[in-house]
This record gives sequence, C-alpha cells and structure tokens, in this order.
Amino acid sequence: MPASISATPELISAKDHERLVIRNALVLTMNCDNSTEVDSTSPVLLGAQKECDIVVEGGIVKAIAPNAAANVTGARVIQGRGCVVMPGLIDSHTHPVFAGSRATETVLKAQGLSYEEVAARGGGIVVSMRATRAASSNELKSSYIQRAKQALARGVVAWEAKTGYGLNVEQELRLLECLFEAHRDEQGQGLLPFMAPTLLGPHAASPELHGLDNYIQALIDALPQFSSLAQKYSNLEKVKTLAVDVFLERNYFTREQADRWLSAALQHGMDVHVHADEFSRSGGCEAAIALAQKLEQTSSRTRVRGRVLSVDHLQYATDNDLLKLQTLGVMPVVLPLTSFFSNIPYVEGRKLRSVGVRAAIASDFNPGTAPMNSLWFAGFLALVKGGFAVPEVLTGITRNAAMAMGIEKSHGVLQVGLPAQMIMFEGTCPEDFFATPTGDHLKAVII
Ligand SMILES: [Zn+2]
Repeated sequence: MPASISATPELISAKDHERLVIRNALVLTMNCDNSTEVDSTSPVLLGAQKECDIVVEGGIVKAIAPNAAANVTGARVIQGRGCVVMPGLIDSHTHPVFAGSRATETVLKAQGLSYEEVAARGGGIVVSMRATRAASSNELKSSYIQRAKQALARGVVAWEAKTGYGLNVEQELRLLECLFEAHRDEQGQGLLPFMAPTLLGPHAASPELHGLDNYIQALIDALPQFSSLAQKYSNLEKVKTLAVDVFLERNYFTREQADRWLSAALQHGMDVHVHADEFSRSGGCEAAIALAQKLEQTSSRTRVRGRVLSVDHLQYATDNDLLKLQTLGVMPVVLPLTSFFSNIPYVEGRKLRSVGVRAAIASDFNPGTAPMNSLWFAGFLALVKGGFAVPEVLTGITRNAAMAMGIEKSHGVLQVGLPAQMIMFEGTCPEDFFATPTGDHLKAVII
C-alpha cells in the first residue's frame, strides 16, 4: 500500500473527550515485563496486536484488546483500519532554545570542512551564542514554542530541552526561564510536548570568564540560583525537574571539569546527562560510569538508579563502556542526524547488538550540527545508515528514550492505566513507520 501524504496530522487532546476509541488498528504497545533487562532486538518487544481496539477515558488508557471498544457508547471513534498505532515519540536530546541560522556552516561542511575546522574559523556554538544573546526573551520564547509545536505535530509527545547558547550564568538563567515561561504560557492548552529541562551551561567557553575552569566554577557557584529558578516553576504541568549536561570533548570541557560540575549538580538533587565520546575518546563514558558507580556505593536509601540518566553521541565508546553503562542503568543515546550533517561516523546498531546493549535514538536538534527538528528522520537514518533493526529503532524513539529522560513510568509505552499518548500512521506492519523518512504519513497525534 503506498503511503499517502496527510497535509497536517490531526492533533487530538484525549482530555477533550470523555471517551475516545480507536478501532481495528495494528497496535504496537512497546510494552514488556522487564524493561531494563531485555534484548532490545527482539520483535516481540513491540507488543504487536492486530485488529486491536484502544479505549481511552478521561485521558487514561482503559483497554487495549481486539473488540475492546465493541460495547463502548458515547465515544469519539477513530477508524484505525489500515493504520498503525504506537506510543507517542520521545526525543531525549534537543537544543531548541536559540536564535539565528548557521546555514553557512552546513555549506562549509558540505565543502569538506570538519566541525572542529568550522569552529576554528569562528563558526560553531559561539555564532549561536551571539544571536541568542541578541534576541529578546520574548523572541526566544516564541521561537521555542513554534519548535515545540512543530515537534508535537511530528509525533513527539515528550522532549528534553537543553539550554547552552547563553554561556554565562546570567544568560543561562535567562534561557532556562524562557523554557519555563513558554510552558507556563501554553499550560492547559495541551499544545506542547512534555518537557524535561536540562541546563547545559558547560557547552563551550564563556567569552566573559576566561578559561574553562573559571566558567565551570562560576556555574557550580550558581547552582543554588538555577535550583531556585526551577523550584519557582515546579508546579508546572508536563514539565520535569531540572537536570544538567556537559560537553565533555577534546577542545571543550575536560574529564576533571565535567566530574566537578556533575558531582556538584548531583549534590543539588539534579540528575545528569553527558555529551560523551563524539569526536574522540575523551572520557565521557568513563565519567558517567564512575559517577553512577559512586552513587551505588555511597547511597543506600535515596534514589540511585536513573540519576546518571544518559550518555549521548558515543562514536568512540568501547564495548566495555557500553556494557558497564547498561549494568548501571545509564542509557546510551545515539544521534544519527549529527552524523548526517557533520559527516562523522554513525554509531552502528550492529555494535550495540553484538554486546547486547539497548539504546535510545534522539534528534540532537540544534542550529549547527543537526538543523532539523525531526526525530522521525533520526529514526530513519538509524535504520538505513546505522543498521539498526526495526524494533531497535522503534523502541529507541519511545521506551528507551523515556528511560534516557527518567520518565519511563509515564511515557514510552502503551499500557492500561497510563495517560493516552500515541501516534497513528498509515500502514499495516511495523516496517511502515519507515514508509516516508520524515513521517509524512502520520495521521494523528493523541495526547
Ligand atoms: Zn547535543
């Protein structure tokens, strides 16, 4: 069956309907009993059920089974025949608060320059920093809202949103506030994805604070300020508690600086991510492993698992790194769009499979190295360029991604009792997800 192009997928708020049913769809629940210990290559994991109904009441999934909706009355009925329904997509790595364009860098890279060569010519993160600092908070907020709505219209029901183009304490606070304010303004309208805010202060050098050491120290000293800003917005719906991240890489932050920053953040109750081992084996995985091990050894009562949430990029991660990370409950995240736009190697599905490690797949949406707000295309590239199997991609952009954000209790699977968050696309088998590379065959997003 050829995929047809739906102009705009319908956005359906489950809460607007007392009852909502989908009839006779192929349903992929992504559900399984033991979500941390499974072999993510198994097709069984998709939880596929043919000719299946889904019943939603008051925004909560009440039934998933063939004929479950047969006797339900007074419901809005969505015909699912010829369609696949699966959990809404989860994008666990994005940089969506920025101004300006870096299209000239895309051209330079097309001519053969590397990311590091572009940066050496005055390009890179600093270009986005200048444009972002020059933009008003209202401009940043409204461009963020547009991007978030765009993601939702492409099936993303939850995303992680990093700061990182402020590059001093005051500006990073401003970007974080823009994120919170955007979600406060839109609250109750159900039009934005769930958002997990991440403070990526240590993204590059700060122009005011000479030396990366000074900048890291300034950020550590300001953690109480970041924490109290997040506290001020803690009653927002559909917004997670604040986490932090660091760009640990050759010519950026060192292992020692990252250790200091991440340890201090953990002490302030913030969970952590690490940009790790993208251009070189620079210690990102090792830092995450050491932190997670230390947490397990020193703390017996408080929550330990899931505090070191994810390590992202991983071109230079070793098999041993990946195995240790999995044992410690730290989710590897691969970012195929960055490989596509920067001409760097793809992390191969085969490599993860050979050591039995699952991974999340994310967009890395940002103005420079992944200027494309499309988790769908990231999944497509993971399949065709990274050699990931269909179940690996589909769990990578749902269940595994939810784990990388620490929201797996409420997101990433279709399950009775959980809030209804799902997408419906034209197709008759799981492979039909890849019928178009950007999800033009997406028909509905239900949140
Ligand atoms: Zn990134």
